[in-house]
Amino acid sequence: MQEKDTQQDGQETFEKICYVCRRPESKAGPMISMPGGMNFCHACMQKAFDSVTQGGIDFSKLQNMPYMNLNLSDISGLAPGAAEIPQKNKVKKKGTEKKKPEFTMKDVPAPHRIKARLDEYIIGQEKAKKAISVAVYNHYKRVFLKGQETEKDDEVQIEKSNILMLGPTGSGKTYLVKTLARLLDVPLAVADATSLTEAGYIGDDIESVVSKLLAAADNDVEKAEHGIIFIDEIDKIAKKKNLTNRDVSGESVQQELLKLLEGSQIEVPVGSNQKNALTPLATVNTDHILFICGGAFPDLADIIKERLSRSVGMGFNARLRDEYDEDPDLLSRATTEDLRAFGMIPEFLGRLPVLVPLHGVTKELLVRILKEPKNAIIKQYARLLELDEVKLVFEDGALDWISEEALKKQTGARALRAIIEEFMLDIMYEIPKDPNIGSVVITRSYLEKCGGPMIEMRGQG
Ligand code: ADP
Repeated sequence: MQEKDTQQDGQETFEKICYVCRRPESKAGPMISMPGGMNFCHACMQKAFDSVTQGGIDFSKLQNMPYMNLNLSDISGLAPGAAEIPQKNKVKKKGTEKKKPEFTMKDVPAPHRIKARLDEYIIGQEKAKKAISVAVYNHYKRVFLKGQETEKDDEVQIEKSNILMLGPTGSGKTYLVKTLARLLDVPLAVADATSLTEAGYIGDDIESVVSKLLAAADNDVEKAEHGIIFIDEIDKIAKKKNLTNRDVSGESVQQELLKLLEGSQIEVPVGSNQKNALTPLATVNTDHILFICGGAFPDLADIIKERLSRSVGMGFNARLRDEYDEDPDLLSRATTEDLRAFGMIPEFLGRLPVLVPLHGVTKELLVRILKEPKNAIIKQYARLLELDEVKLVFEDGALDWISEEALKKQTGARALRAIIEEFMLDIMYEIPKDPNIGSVVITRSYLEKCGGPMIEMRGQG
């Protein structure tokens, strides 16, 4: 609310600007300053008092007030509807308006059904899919029981089953959570732990993740409270070693996340990711929100290996140590002890009781990912060409080649799409030129650039 002005001595000073009419001090005269950097000119202040004596005005009802560009002289000219709060910023209050059907256990499919739906989209990762299906089912059982709590107060308290997923980049962590939220039809917010910092420092504060979820739930607090928050790259907020200054993006972020994970009332701005004086706030209870954290935990394998080797000792058992060296699934042996050694604080781990390891992708898995999911990439291309009445076929050798190339990039299944898009561009461009083309076969030698795709004209073969 201040305008820059450079004085002769080079020092920058700032001119005060009226919060309401936006006129600077030079035009509107001396300002009345309020805490929080707000300034008001005499004219606006006087108009506000006059309005109060004439029956009062409700500032919160004025449309442009949240953006503070209002000129009070406009008030008399406002159309009746203009005094409404914009729809975007409206919060649906709990328990008001028409009563929604109550949340029942019938809304949540049994674990085997959740897994069966996940199987349609996610290939492999059997153990992870099973663990997630059970954890989600238990989570919503707990939500259901909490709703009934008033009747049976002496019941056993079920703790939250927040999930910690461990798996290399591109192993499908985000995809798994997104698919889960879609099939349960609950809102989902995906946040990146690297952008989070302790409140007051540059970066997003912890509450911004709840704000995202509220936006995903169309500002419906009740819907948001049954949603899922996925915090990716959680390994990046491990306690930093040998740090001399304050760790505002590591350990302190873990500390601040504790209150969200265990369930608390969080005040979040509606329709914005920043709190300010005039943005409406909503209170979201995070107790029923399912938190899933995911990370690649790059050096965790070494920590696990060291622990396992320590336990086998010397001599005959030393043979086992070499086996650990070659075990590609070492992450599935992770314990909370290993994660503590990695830099996660015990309280944080205590609030993520379900550990779900995912495997790194192999060539075989990549080939399956290419062709088996309900919305597999090659099925998507086949469907696009079907609209041109052209049949698209990928030979097995071609799928092997794509998977081998993807493995080289070391970004898991994420590399597949980019590789396919590169060579499909020519095909998608050329094929519609010739209406006589009936089918296209992508072969390994075409991909190795030793020839063109096999093309068959209509009426042949
Ligand atoms: P991560 O979050 O583990 O780094 P992602 O979930 O972003 O990885 O995976 C990247 C992409 O790879 C996803 O969008 C999805 O299309 C694909 N993918 C990864 N794993 C699988 C899987 N097991 N089954 C099907 N698709 C997968």
